[in-house]
Amino acid sequence: MATKKKYVYYFGDGRADGRGDMKDLLGGKGAGLAEMTRLGIPVPAGFTITTEACIEFFDNKKSYPKGMWEEALAALKRVEKSIGCGFGDPKSPLLVSVRSGAKASMPGMMDTVLNLGLNDQTVLGLIEKSKNERFGYDAYRRFISMFGSVVMGVKRDKFEKALEEKKLQLRARLDTDLPAEALKEMVQTYKKIVLNETGRNFPEDPIEQLRLGINAVFNSWFGQRAMTYRRLNNIPDTWGTAVSVVAMVFGNLGETSGTGVAFTRDPSTGERRFFGEFLFNAQGEDVVAGIRTPLPIDALKQKLPKAYRDLMAVYKKLEKHYKDMLDIEFTIQEGKLYMLQTRVGKRTAAAAMRIAVEMAKEKLITKETALLRIDPVQLDQLLHPMIDPKAKVRIIAKGLPASPGAAIGKVVFTAEEAQHMAERHERVILVRTETSPEDIGGMHAAEGIVTARGGMTSHAAVVARGMGKCCVAGCGALHIDEERKFFTVGDVTVKEGDYITLNGSTGEVILGQVDLIQPEMSGSFKTLMGWADAARKLNVRANADTPHDARVAREFGAEGIGLCRTEHMFFEGDRIKAVREMILADTLEGRKRALAKLLPMQKGDFIGIFREMKGLPVTIRLLDPPLHEFLPQTEEDLEELSREMGIHVDLLRAKNRSLHEFNPMLGHRGCRLGITFPEIYEMQAQAIFEAACELAQEKLKVIPEVMIPLVAHIKELSEMKALCVRTAEEVMARYKKKISYTIGTMIELPRAALVADQIAREAEFFSFGTNDLTQTTFGLSRDDAGRFLPDYVHKGILDQDPFVAIDQEGVGLLMKMGVEKGRSARPGMKIGICGEHGGEPSSVEFCHRIGLNYVSCSPFRVPIARLAAAQAMVRGKMKGKDGGHRATV
Ligand code: PEP
Ligand code: MG
Repeated sequence: MATKKKYVYYFGDGRADGRGDMKDLLGGKGAGLAEMTRLGIPVPAGFTITTEACIEFFDNKKSYPKGMWEEALAALKRVEKSIGCGFGDPKSPLLVSVRSGAKASMPGMMDTVLNLGLNDQTVLGLIEKSKNERFGYDAYRRFISMFGSVVMGVKRDKFEKALEEKKLQLRARLDTDLPAEALKEMVQTYKKIVLNETGRNFPEDPIEQLRLGINAVFNSWFGQRAMTYRRLNNIPDTWGTAVSVVAMVFGNLGETSGTGVAFTRDPSTGERRFFGEFLFNAQGEDVVAGIRTPLPIDALKQKLPKAYRDLMAVYKKLEKHYKDMLDIEFTIQEGKLYMLQTRVGKRTAAAAMRIAVEMAKEKLITKETALLRIDPVQLDQLLHPMIDPKAKVRIIAKGLPASPGAAIGKVVFTAEEAQHMAERHERVILVRTETSPEDIGGMHAAEGIVTARGGMTSHAAVVARGMGKCCVAGCGALHIDEERKFFTVGDVTVKEGDYITLNGSTGEVILGQVDLIQPEMSGSFKTLMGWADAARKLNVRANADTPHDARVAREFGAEGIGLCRTEHMFFEGDRIKAVREMILADTLEGRKRALAKLLPMQKGDFIGIFREMKGLPVTIRLLDPPLHEFLPQTEEDLEELSREMGIHVDLLRAKNRSLHEFNPMLGHRGCRLGITFPEIYEMQAQAIFEAACELAQEKLKVIPEVMIPLVAHIKELSEMKALCVRTAEEVMARYKKKISYTIGTMIELPRAALVADQIAREAEFFSFGTNDLTQTTFGLSRDDAGRFLPDYVHKGILDQDPFVAIDQEGVGLLMKMGVEKGRSARPGMKIGICGEHGGEPSSVEFCHRIGLNYVSCSPFRVPIARLAAAQAMVRGKMKGKDGGHRATV
């Protein structure tokens, strides 16, 4: 015979049917109450009706599952026995609270009723027992208004209005100024309101009240507030809510009573100190309502020392048991402490870090658990300035949170203006429809960047992340008039020179200046990162294009450069002129003349980067973007260039036209440029190896890894590799130096992944360019997707933006195939990733699982990747396999 399903779990007097690990069935609150009872902590007796009962209630067209009600009544009897009062007993009435509680905390989203069990008779018993008439009628009128609104659907303000009228009539300022007689009258007034509004009498039968109360809490699971919260937080409807019915204890029975909330450690700093607030002579709702200012918990120490000592003992016991920082709620009734709730407390990133490290040092948790306690993404909060959480802000628009941190500045609309103003020590925010490589200087000068178009891997997003600069991308609500230098959003107009503030962690654009708080990399941060480094297998490199970025990357713990994009070097200072000269030249000789001017500058860059990286590997990618990106786009700029170079403007226009491509991302770029113009790649290889040889002369170690982009066919790679090898050998012979180097390729096109075994015959390493690989696998432009991808995520077609987190089923399958095929042809081949996904935790875990050697990401995301790599390892071990490779970097 099947065992009967249990719908009701009792707790009281040190015994509980449930346990702390039964959150699915009892909800967070029910599980916490059961566990505290088992631990011998004082909790008022009660019972929890399961989430399963809630789901079956809805399945059964809102009738209780068979046996549930009888179980509840039996549990109620046990509560009566434990408390020594009777439910509905006019002499010694038991009152209960009926509380919701789902598996995940949904603060304030569902309903609760307090003081249930009161009627015209039991209120007299309550007064008799408390010897306090005012308290009795106050509890009763509060109950009618709460039950009337939550259960019977009367608008709350009807009750509030009646109370205000009474206060006015008696010239009472606060509710507490109303005498017992007035509250007694309010009970009658409230009952009339209920009758008028619903056509029904207020139910006097406590059992009927209980039944209606339980129904109301069940029903609140599908209330508007709860449904919206679930949608926003990805909580499924199928979880249901549990209902806890708990004997009431009163914090408002006079000056030896009260109620409070506390954290077992400081939730903002993580300091190991009990941190709480308390109100004497008050009920829980008074603390939350914020009408009276709560006192620090120390106030309790002087006035109620016994309760204070008990509370200290309880919190220590709870923390030791749960091995985490907890948030607790308690009530003191006439000097006696009762715990009403406990759950793992929310905390800031800094606090999370400190708590995890200190708890591991206190041997409460292991180092592995400490590592898993931190959400890697939270680390961002510690590395960038943030908006002061106490600041009042006026948000005018929201775009994509493209690069975290916060920035304040005056609005400018062009890169040149950004640079001009920055030179005058003004802080600026660069506002553009979208950015292009030409804007690099202005982006560098700005505090932050906003674009109206573009997604998470748009130019602005990628470059800003690389610079560690705050960026909001794809903020479609901004209507930017770059010509007339203003933007509008709704009815707000922001002109050049007006201040705005950006929150790159949330995508918010805020009007005016807001207070920021600066990051602090505390001792705990360093300790935890040290543990992460010891735990992980995956190496972490950075994407860095300048000596400055390389230094930042090393400071953040990068173990090499996984991607140095050489095109960014082409825009600096005077070089753009030489680049344009090269593009405009019609003959090989002309191009070579221009390239000869670029050679020393490029070599200088590489020397700077190699020096900063102090013998760590540096992967340098040869030129990737289509050439037209280097030519001026506006008429004004064309004319200026024509004057500078002494070339007729018509000729320039014609050149621009000839370079125009319908789909440049799939056009003449990557190694396709090297195939057509081998002299460009030759110059770059020469610069790399001359730089390496010159440093070798100084006895500095360098490890260059030359990377060929956008390879689809083995022959593209063999030709470009031969060119690089020839150049390297020639340079090394000239310098009489031997440098060990490798030549590899990016895997960023589906075809390359499909024929990775062929490509691995030539490539000495692979690096997955998952930005382009995602773009080409989905056939989805990375620069335009920002406009409509949010709809896909919102509608649940995609769980996440695939440009943010690797699409493991599709793009990930190609990567897996690339790894397997690559290593089948070249066993033990070093393989990494340098797309933006390299700094996103779920993608890092995926890279660990498929056996990559390293991930490479923007310098500011290096700590995130280090922690995510450690977590991947710890989780893998827990599942019984460690996966991943650790090779030489
Ligand atoms: C990529 O495609 O993933 C990559 C790293 O190259 P880029 O973003 O420069 O195209
Ligand atoms: Mg690419």
